[in-house]
Formats: sequence, structure tokens, C-alpha cells
Amino acid sequence: MHVLQQPVLVLSRSYLPVDRVTVKEAVCLIARGKAEAVEMGDGKTWLVRSIRKVYEVPAQICLTAAGVERIWKVPPVNRKELFARDANLCQYCGSKRSLTIDHVLPRSRGGQHIWENVVTACEPCNTRKGDRTPEEVGMVLKAKLKPPVHPAVAFAEQLWKS
Ligand SMILES: [Zn+2]
Repeated sequence: MHVLQQPVLVLSRSYLPVDRVTVKEAVCLIARGKAEAVEMGDGKTWLVRSIRKVYEVPAQICLTAAGVERIWKVPPVNRKELFARDANLCQYCGSKRSLTIDHVLPRSRGGQHIWENVVTACEPCNTRKGDRTPEEVGMVLKAKLKPPVHPAVAFAEQLWKS
């Protein structure tokens, strides 16, 4: 792999990983004063020569600007993020068609419109379930009923997995 294509981890000012760029993009960020080198761990660096300057690019850079992690709140329940959480699949039968929002504990029985009580369900499953809980109908729920996480946390989880 060419040196300019090597991966560089981008950290926010509070050292949360927020992105991964190439050495070439990292040089641009450093040259424009948007990021600076971070010395950590193995101290691996790449030397990149431009016409006038030699840039030493380490495996991690840190953004100089604040505001990358603005105060982030769990968003209210919405179709887009719910379907994304549940991978656009009915969480009872795995169907991709006629997706709706199902309240695990039905609203008619006091179920709330919150992340911990909603799942993606296809229309047939939603109709079959009706005003009952999955247990009462003998349906198995696949989803983990969690709110969405901060984008930086989601990025970090992906990163540590790869
Ligand atoms: Zn279904």
C-alpha cells in the first residue's frame, strides 16, 4: 500500500475516535491547522514531503476544533433511526416488507412510545400481535430494545470490532 493511503485514526479533542482517514487526508488536515499529531503507543509515523515542508504523520491525529461532539441527546423515537437500529427487518419474522412500528407492550395497555418499547415489525406480524405482548401470542422478539448511541460511540464500537 502506498504511504499516502495508510490509515490514520482521527480523535476528537477529548480523545474519542471519530473517524479514520488516509495519510494524504491527514496531511491536509494538519497543513490547514485543523488537526495535530498525537504521539501515542508505538510511535509509528510516516514522513510525507510536500514541496516546502516535510510532514511527520503519526497513526493518530487529533482535531484542533471543538464541537465535534456537540452535546448529544438520545433522539425521540422515529422511523428512520428505529428501522436503522433493527436493520430494516421485521423483528419477529425477518421480513423486509410493509414495515411498521410495533409497541412491544401495546399502547392500549400503557406501553410507552420510547426506544425500550418499540421495534420494527411487518404489517402481518403487527396485525397478528394486535393488543397483546409477544409472549401472549408466542412470538419471539429478536431486537435488543436499546436507544441509539452517540455517533462517536457507534464509530468506536465498529473500530474496536474491526
Ligand atoms: Zn413480520
